[in-house]
Amino acid sequence: MMRAQMLHRLHAHPAAWDLIIVGGGATGVGVAIDAAARGYDVLLLEGSDFGKGTSSRSTKLVHGGVRYLEQGNIPLVMEALKERGILRQNAPHLVSNLAFIVPNYDWWEAPFYGLGLKLYNVLSGQYGFGPSQILSREDTLQRLPTINREGLRGGVVYYDGQFDDARLLINMVATAAEQGATLLNYCRVAGVTKDASGYIDGVIAREVESGDEFTARARVVVNATGPFTDAVRRLADPSLEAMIAPSQGIHLVFDRSFLPGDSAIMVPHTSDGRVMFAIPWHGHTLVGTTDTAIPEATLEPSAQEEEIEFILKTAGQYLHKAPSRADVLSVFTGIRPLVTAGKASNTAALSRDHTIRIDASGLLSIAGGKWTTYRHMAEDCVNQVATLGQLPERACVTRQLNIHGFHPHPEKFGQLSFYGSDAAAIRELMEKVPELTQPLTRELPYVGAEVVWAVRHEMARTVEDVLCRRTRALFLNAKAARQMTPGVASLMARELGYGADWERKQVVAFEQIARHFSLEAGAVAGGSGG
Ligand SMILES: Cc1cc2nc3c(=O)[nH]c(=O)nc-3n(C[C@H](O)[C@H](O)[C@H](O)COP(=O)(O)OP(=O)(O)OC[C@H]3O[C@@H](n4cnc5c(N)ncnc54)[C@H](O)[C@@H]3O)c2cc1C
Repeated sequence: MMRAQMLHRLHAHPAAWDLIIVGGGATGVGVAIDAAARGYDVLLLEGSDFGKGTSSRSTKLVHGGVRYLEQGNIPLVMEALKERGILRQNAPHLVSNLAFIVPNYDWWEAPFYGLGLKLYNVLSGQYGFGPSQILSREDTLQRLPTINREGLRGGVVYYDGQFDDARLLINMVATAAEQGATLLNYCRVAGVTKDASGYIDGVIAREVESGDEFTARARVVVNATGPFTDAVRRLADPSLEAMIAPSQGIHLVFDRSFLPGDSAIMVPHTSDGRVMFAIPWHGHTLVGTTDTAIPEATLEPSAQEEEIEFILKTAGQYLHKAPSRADVLSVFTGIRPLVTAGKASNTAALSRDHTIRIDASGLLSIAGGKWTTYRHMAEDCVNQVATLGQLPERACVTRQLNIHGFHPHPEKFGQLSFYGSDAAAIRELMEKVPELTQPLTRELPYVGAEVVWAVRHEMARTVEDVLCRRTRALFLNAKAARQMTPGVASLMARELGYGADWERKQVVAFEQIARHFSLEAGAVAGGSGG
């Protein structure tokens, strides 16, 4: 996974690729793994960094979706529960079992949720994460010492998966590369090429760092740009109707004192009828999410004032000590690429959860679904690609394909457990250069070796890449991440061969991004920082 090598592969490629994938989020990288593992010739182009979009901004749950169960959508729950099991099997270093407790304040809640969550576990079959159980008031308080005690009767515990979304994505990029795919971040697709019959046969892209434009040809172009799906579809045909209705969700991050145990809280019905979670994540407490329709997707969305107030208010109803704005360490916003019903007759809705659409130009777009089901989405997509591009038929192999970093006992690597098998090499780096064992801030556990590793082996190009998606510093604590900036810029400049000017520009650029994650900086949509 080295960028120079990837660029070389791109420019040395003589003929058309079997497929070009536009977009390096969970959907696009999932498709790249599947197609490359089947032996197809794959190029993936990501306009920003891998995971810059929604795929680094999720609730971090690998789950069947208790909400779908309530809606009676059993096939969808079963599919997601199966994918949950497959993902834990293939990436045990990143997916872990987490206990969720539904606190009960009314007499009917224990039998109602108790039964529903029993069904949830039964539906997972051989892929179960653990049986659900009704808890007494005392047991609930023992597991959730900070829960609001007033009127509490007890709770119901069930089990689901938790992960680090951006880290999984980076390991997925490595997996795709190991399977032979060529993947590039910072290569933005700005146009498409068509053959004599008006059928799409390639893309025109710009390498962001050099500004160089290039054309790459393919038998099939896959549009996996999530919230930006329509913008890419309109590169091929500006008259197309939208297929995406974007909706944003925010999360607030607090310190661990708000949820000190190892269990998460699941609130099945907030006042706006949604599910809300408070979960322990990387030694912090993550609370979310909201669902707010927005007119247009942007790459760096901002939380809206009402969303922040809503989460603070709801968290305050369930926590003994209500969190305030001053307690918010970070706020992050993601955009759901929700697929509209649409009228197009050539829509192949292979599951009710995701949609694959082939436009008249031959552009194949895949959107919707969720992180948990990315592998299944990719399998569906590559089956369609093979038909569309008349590629030799080959079976999908990703059910049994380990994700890069796979390790059966990652806990033995302590703080570096999320790197899985890569942790040993990072430790070696720390032994060789003891200076790299120094923490980059007192508030977070990250050390210099992780920065160097990210540049050398994970295609990190900017300070933002390191502080957002190779580590999760900005998502955990915006102030601490800002303190880390000069140190990270200096280490990166040394690795990449840049000077003081690059470092200065990186610090300024990161400040701009960090404003979107910090209430302190007033960076709220409609607020002073915009
Ligand atoms: C608030 C929230 C919480 C969620 N929580 C969960 C959860 O807990 N569990 C779960 O399973 N799912 C969850 N989801 C859903 C899941 O995160 C998404 O379904 C998934 O991340 C979508 O991935 P994607 O690759 O389709 O889109 P994205 O991750 O947005 O990727 C699209 C990529 O395309 C790139 N791009 C755009 N235009 C171009 C161009 N012209 N050229 C090149 N590249 C381009 C973008 O830079 C971006 O990186 C959540 C979603 C939201 C919004």
